[in-house]
Parts: sequence; structure tokens; C-alpha cells
Amino acid sequence: MRPSPAFVPVAASAGPAAAEQPDEPLTPYPTPPPVLYDQGQVLHGGVGINALRAEIGDCQRCKLAKGRRHIVLGTGNPEANLMFVGEAPGADEDEQGEPFVGAAGQLLSKMIKAMGYERSEVYICNILKCRPPQNRNPEPDEVSACEQFLRKQIAIVQPRIIVALGKFAAHFLCGEETPITRLRGNLRTFNEIPVMPTYHPAFLLRDESRKAEAWSDLKQVMAMLDNMGLR
Ligand code: SF4
Repeated sequence: MRPSPAFVPVAASAGPAAAEQPDEPLTPYPTPPPVLYDQGQVLHGGVGINALRAEIGDCQRCKLAKGRRHIVLGTGNPEANLMFVGEAPGADEDEQGEPFVGAAGQLLSKMIKAMGYERSEVYICNILKCRPPQNRNPEPDEVSACEQFLRKQIAIVQPRIIVALGKFAAHFLCGEETPITRLRGNLRTFNEIPVMPTYHPAFLLRDESRKAEAWSDLKQVMAMLDNMGLR
């Protein structure tokens, strides 16, 4: 396992000057940073997610840290073939520390069940890991501070297909700002992983007439998983 540079004792890399200060105590970091990489590879599965959780720590990298109760990292199988990505935790998620547990989450669970899976068999997360106040939309500085964690989650889980739930996740993962009404159902890629954009379950709760379109998108995903021999 490649040692983290942070574990290298200060005096050992201090060069000739170190010999002139033999009594200077070594000063380790207060919290050793986690090792996310082994021989240059991202750790896969649960061990990687645990390392990422430790890396996030008590994150203060954006203004959402002030109002959150829990950092909501993700749930489900950390080696899942199928990953769902939404935009941010809401009140229930912030309270319980788990993504998609409120009314929208219950609908997502039904959608997952209809695809032939349990929640525990897929991986579910959001772009932002902390709740925006009053469930407002994510702001660019927050996405920019937090997106590194989603990128690492995707690298760790290595899903074969990602479903982007709603316009924020779809725009981020697809790299384009086409309205979700036109983007949904059209396969894109994120780091060569197929991404299927579809409606957010919260939107489907507000407009049930869109459920058929969402189901059609998920059926495409099921067909792709079938073709890969993964279902
Ligand atoms: S939203 Fe992300 S970057 Fe901002 S405080 Fe939470 S974990 Fe950190």
C-alpha cells in the first residue's frame, strides 16, 4: 500500500537542515488522512467508502456545513452495478443521515423495486452531501466544493450504469444544460460510464403524469443491464 505523504515524518524530509536540529520533535498530523489509493488504484467497495467517509470528516468546505445535522454520504451496496444520483439531502435525509428516505425516497424505493432490485442492492447518493436551507437549489460554489466526493464515490463503487435523478444531477453528470424534459431518456456518459437522465422522484410526486416517461427511462436501463448480463 502506498504510504500517504502526510505520514512521512517532518524531520525525514527536512534535508540537511534537519541534522542541525536533532532535538526537534516530529509533528504528525492531528488526524491521519485516510489512504484512498492502493498502488495508484482507488480502493473499491466498502473499504473505499469508509476511507472516503474519513476523508470528508467534519467537512467545513462550504457554507452548508453550518446548518446541517448529518453529512449524508450514500447508502446501499458499495459495489453496486447500478447507482442513483440526486441533488442534495432534504429535511428527512438530514435528520436520519441517509439519502432518499422521505416521500421522494419512498417513491425512489418503489422505482428500484419495480426494476427488480432492493435498495440494498443499488447505491444511492447525491451531488451535495449536506442539506441546503429550506431545500433550495444547490449553488455553484457548493457544487464546486462538494463534487470531488461524488467523483470519488463513483470511482470507488464503479457502477456499470448511473441514473441521474433530476436536472441538477443530470446536468452535472451529462455535462450539458439541456432542459431535463428533453435530456431525460437520452443516454450520456460520465467518465465512460453510461448515464441515464430522468426525473427526480420529488418532481414525479408533484406531476404524476410524468411517471410514464420516467418508467420508460428506467426500462432502458433495465434493458442495458440485461444486455450486460447483470440482471
Ligand atoms: S456540502 Fe459537501 S463540501 Fe459542503 S460542507 Fe457538506 S460535505 Fe462539505
